[in-house]
Amino acid sequence: MHTKYVREAIGMRALSPAIWGVLALSLQLNSAMAEPPAATAEFRTFSIGNLEAIALNDGSLQEPNDGKSFIKGQTPAAVAAVLKSGGVPTDHFEFSIQPLLVRSSRRVLLFDTGAGGDFGPIAGALLSSMHAAGVDPASVTDIFISHTHGDHIGGLVTPAGVLVFANATIHISAPEWRWLSGMNADAAKNVGIAHLDVLVKTITPKVAPFKPDSALIPGVVKAVEVKGHTPGHSGYLIGSDGHTLLYLGDALHNFVVSVREPQWQNAFDTDPTTAAASRVALLARVSANGQRLYAVHFPFPGVGKIVKQDTGYAWVPESLH
Ligand SMILES: [Zn+2]
Repeated sequence: MHTKYVREAIGMRALSPAIWGVLALSLQLNSAMAEPPAATAEFRTFSIGNLEAIALNDGSLQEPNDGKSFIKGQTPAAVAAVLKSGGVPTDHFEFSIQPLLVRSSRRVLLFDTGAGGDFGPIAGALLSSMHAAGVDPASVTDIFISHTHGDHIGGLVTPAGVLVFANATIHISAPEWRWLSGMNADAAKNVGIAHLDVLVKTITPKVAPFKPDSALIPGVVKAVEVKGHTPGHSGYLIGSDGHTLLYLGDALHNFVVSVREPQWQNAFDTDPTTAAASRVALLARVSANGQRLYAVHFPFPGVGKIVKQDTGYAWVPESLH
């Protein structure tokens, strides 16, 4: 996902890139003082077997249905027809952002960190949601990053270079960490990272790169590679003994389009062909085995299952109170 989200949100699409750069900078500087975005709820608690889980609301991003911002290779009219069939507005896509917190007996685990200050006031509410849920950021022992786009790693570090979760090991797949470490500032801005140098320098001592598909905390967290979105994109299987939750990362983006037309390519994926094949395979697998899912960009809180219907797949959310 890209910084242009912010432009959409504040109606500045027509401004020149140079002006936008200045505005983006002031938005980033001001975002720490901004009110948290309006949200349906700040957090929802639920269980994964004997693990306590908390969905944490970070905010919400939008992209227009214009034939290029998200879905590509389809007409806006064709996309609108699918959005309509899912009962949502047809002129734009909505992407909630909800990092997940899990407590095991000894550890506090955080899956992705939201947008931090990188997307302006429409996102970055993770810390206030954690506060509302009674979780101290200093208590987080392990962070599992699905991939290094700004809406997933923006919450790791303040613009001044301070670790937000000072005591946490940061788990990132080795290919993803290589990709981030070798990125230049312009490429980073395109994936929503405003302060690349500060980010990489600050987190380096805390990063524990892992081999794709590794068991990271035996019986609690296993990495599950889902190829195509970024070079080292990883989901995470959380829990054990028949009580598991699959954290999807950005394997699926939109609860209507990504589920009903998984073969459609989108502009967020680094390798759109591979990502589309991954979506098709994933939906077949999780609808067949009934895997409980956590979808970081589906409507909050994003817990549910995929079911196969006559006309294709559908997302069935779990209602959590
Ligand atoms: Zn994302």
